[in-house]
Amino acid sequence: MKELLVISGKGGTGKTTIMGSLAVLAKDKVLADCDVDAADLHLLLEPKIEESHEFYGLDKAVIDPELCTQCGKCLEVCRFGAISEDYYIDPMDCEGCRVCHYMCPVEAISMVKHRSGHWYISSSNYGPLVHAALGIAEENSGLLVSLVRQKSRELAEELGARYVLTDGPPGVGCPVIASLADIDLALIVTEPTVAGLHDLERVLALTEHFQVPAVVCVNKYDLAEGKTDELEDYCREKEIEVVGLIPFRQEVNRAVIQGKPVVEYSPGPAADAIVDLWGRVKGLLDNRE
Ligand code: SF4
Ligand code: SF4
Repeated sequence: MKELLVISGKGGTGKTTIMGSLAVLAKDKVLADCDVDAADLHLLLEPKIEESHEFYGLDKAVIDPELCTQCGKCLEVCRFGAISEDYYIDPMDCEGCRVCHYMCPVEAISMVKHRSGHWYISSSNYGPLVHAALGIAEENSGLLVSLVRQKSRELAEELGARYVLTDGPPGVGCPVIASLADIDLALIVTEPTVAGLHDLERVLALTEHFQVPAVVCVNKYDLAEGKTDELEDYCREKEIEVVGLIPFRQEVNRAVIQGKPVVEYSPGPAADAIVDLWGRVKGLLDNRE
């Protein structure tokens, strides 16, 4: 079983649009959506939830007012400002570090389980999908991302699937780092914009650091061909293969508005380029040990 992670270094590069089409083109796979803050792959895949599970993140501190002597020690040691003057701990601000729990002289602070989201296994017309949603205002520490990765891998093993295709979180923080573990190939989707090269450098620094093989796809490459040349030159210098150049076409916007994967909704140059992209990515995955 081979695992592909699609990432972008920042939101809005068309990553999920491309991922939605790869979900159509790849056969014999399990899909995973690790964008747990703003999951939108399901908008394209219209999954039907088959299993729903609660997700508990880091434990949160709670003060027992019956035991508390109001000595102020916890207020002093909490570096996250989670404890109010009247000794109430706001679960949204508590980072679960346990320092107050250890420092309280009368053992008035306990650590309790905190439900911070849900994860799901769904069926879709394009195959099974593992996805998740954090609760409102819950922080994405990467734990839920790791869980989605783990569950998608387990499901693929159970079904004997050949690939796991994962839509990664945006950015370069903890959630992306969590999504990179044990990946066979990272497909980085970028755009020829002013910030595009900088974003690509940052995400490639991460894949290099974690020794994950990476390839690049330039979305809307024909909107600024000078910038695309810069991206290609940079990749050549770093010996990173550019596996796809997707042209800007209205057919893509129309497909997004209709909530459909472009390769299914509207044949044309953009859809053709995505078909070629999958052919190259599939070849690289199949050739991995
Ligand atoms: S350290 Fe314990 S006893 Fe002191 S104020 Fe905090 S909860 Fe109360
Ligand atoms: S567990 Fe850590 S973050 Fe939470 S209230 Fe205690 S000291 Fe503050």
